[in-house]
Amino acid sequence: MKSLSKNFIVIILILIGISLAFALFANPFEEKNEISLSELVQDINSEKIERVTIEGEKLLVVYTDGGKAESQKEQGAALSETLLNLGVVPEKLSSLIIEQKNPSGLAALLLPLSYILIPLLLFGLFFFFMFRQAKAGVSQAFDFTKAKARLFGADGQDKERITFKDVAGLKEAKQELEEVVDFLKHPKKYLAIGAKIPRGVLLVGPPGTGKTLLARAVAAEAGVPFFSASGSEFIEMFVGVGSSRVRDLFGTAKKAGRSIIFIDELDAIGRTRGAGYGGGHDEREQTLNQILVEMDGFERDDTRIVMAATNRPDVLDSALLRPGRFDRRIILDLPDINDREAILKIHARIVPSSAVNFREVAERTPGFSGADLANLVNESAILAARRNKKQISQADILESIDKVLLGPERKSHILSKKEKEITAYHEGGHALVAASLPGADPIRKVSIISRGNTGGYTLKLPTEDKHLRSKADFLDELTVLMGGYAAERLIFKDITTGPSDDLQKASEVARALIKTYGMSEKLGPVTFGEKEEMIFLGRDAREYRNYSDEVANEIDKEVKNLLESSLKKAEDILRKRRTTLAKIAKTLIKKETLEQEEFEKLIGKKRGQ
Ligand code: ADP
Ligand code: MG
Ligand code: ZN
Repeated sequence: MKSLSKNFIVIILILIGISLAFALFANPFEEKNEISLSELVQDINSEKIERVTIEGEKLLVVYTDGGKAESQKEQGAALSETLLNLGVVPEKLSSLIIEQKNPSGLAALLLPLSYILIPLLLFGLFFFFMFRQAKAGVSQAFDFTKAKARLFGADGQDKERITFKDVAGLKEAKQELEEVVDFLKHPKKYLAIGAKIPRGVLLVGPPGTGKTLLARAVAAEAGVPFFSASGSEFIEMFVGVGSSRVRDLFGTAKKAGRSIIFIDELDAIGRTRGAGYGGGHDEREQTLNQILVEMDGFERDDTRIVMAATNRPDVLDSALLRPGRFDRRIILDLPDINDREAILKIHARIVPSSAVNFREVAERTPGFSGADLANLVNESAILAARRNKKQISQADILESIDKVLLGPERKSHILSKKEKEITAYHEGGHALVAASLPGADPIRKVSIISRGNTGGYTLKLPTEDKHLRSKADFLDELTVLMGGYAAERLIFKDITTGPSDDLQKASEVARALIKTYGMSEKLGPVTFGEKEEMIFLGRDAREYRNYSDEVANEIDKEVKNLLESSLKKAEDILRKRRTTLAKIAKTLIKKETLEQEEFEKLIGKKRGQ
């Protein structure tokens, strides 16, 4: 809104400027008869002219019949000389009255000057406003060097000083960040012992899960200044502005010493370079490069910590994830039932709500993010106020759930009761299959709360780690991937769209097994297809096919075989342990998330086994 009215003012000013210029230079209301110098010479020779007055560069011509005209004197030459050169008859010239008139004082001074000054002034004004505009887009968030800097913490002036206490749930994330806080509080302790401190911490999670909140809390907990910018702001800028802003940001933080630099929506600038998203965005790339340059320029004893947030880790440029950059990644999940209750209570601190049963509200809001819940409390307070009540009631808050659900800001997916049941069996299936395979990693967590758009208990993160994996590992992975599908089929005798991600992933794994690693017995120890090296599995790598259609057919068949035998294996496991599967699913429906210990108890596995 603000920038709209500003734009308007600028346009008006420019219009006024232009019309002023016209008024000054063209003077359209007072047209004069302009004649050329050769016309003048002709008229002099035919004795039509009584006098010529020289006024600066202008010639005012008065005819014998009283008519008037204007002409332009040739610069740097005497008028008589010019006229003679143009063929005036000398006698005629001597009978002509030539007057020299100095243009009246001030005008004489201003006129030539105005030719230079007014356009200059207009240009100046124009650039002044352009510049102000460009800055305005940034400044609210980003003008660190100026007083307006968005800076929280440190001096305690920040009214909404947010600490870890204000962040509900996110236990693991907070634990990891405690380390960062401690470093910022006592850097010497770490530096003295030669410890390598994380330089860049990437917060990954769906919208509204508290990434920004947590970053601010870290700064406040450590008592250091918080400098923040958002990736989307950079995109709107003029070329070159983005990277200089990044320089400013890191520079200002450096002056502050211990500090947090927070880049929100990192994916807006950090997308894979040259990947052709909208034809490559110069400004974005320059900004991204500048961030990389700044982060590489950190000294060993640097006490700035860069934090960034994204909900699209899959599109990030791999350069950002390299060691020494954002090599520490922290995942923020959507809150489970307990966390939802805690978040509701935090936000209800400022609204009288003693009659509300927050547990019930939490039960009714699976899939709500922290931001959704904050919004829910606020909506119900508004509803209560409209009803002239001094307290929010259970009815107010339950009624508001729908409003939040339908609201424009909600992005996460809400599970219905049936969906919740299917998802519980699906995820339970993955987990139980995984736990039943010898040599599989232990299950750390099972959850039916979806992360972003996939339900699942593991969030695949881009990683450069390359493990040496055996064929058995791949086959296990395939079986686990099929576990969700197998469970749905076994229990509901039906299949939903839920496992489509799993199937796609499984096909990719099977193809990699055959084509990249040459592990298929049928096709032998041969690799197929040349790939451009791609860091993230699943990104569509460009492939050059170097095999025949027949081989392609064989590969497809072999992929199908692998998937079918994996599915069968998963189904066998689940059929045998059907009661355990049901137990897991029922617990998941109730609790939504199972931690390792609880899960192992359910499946009858003893610790350390
Ligand atoms: P993100 O940056 O992940 O999109 P935000 O940090 O901007 O999410 O969260 C938006 C708002 O939602 C916060 O200001 C806060 O009011 C609320 N919120 C989100 N997560 C939590 C949480 N874990 N505890 C308390 N409030 C939360
Ligand atoms: Mg945010
Ligand atoms: Zn699945």
